Amino acid sequence: MSNRNKHLNPAKAYEPKRCWVGDTHKIIYDTLEEAELAAKVAEYDHSSGPLKVYKCPYAEHYHLSSS
Ligand SMILES: [Zn+2]
Repeated sequence: MSNRNKHLNPAKAYEPKRCWVGDTHKIIYDTLEEAELAAKVAEYDHSSGPLKVYKCPYAEHYHLSSS
């Protein structure tokens, strides 16, 4: 069990941009490549199920979906 903080990543100096999709505050990825890379990292990191990359219905960027 690791004890690291899930909310703050000290390796990143900036806050990711976010966007409200329904009632979820989702991280914005500017490019499909960036989103796919983030999905791979997240699957590896959190041992979560496969993440889907999809284009935001409201703007020109991408989000990840865990369902
Ligand atoms: Zn969005």
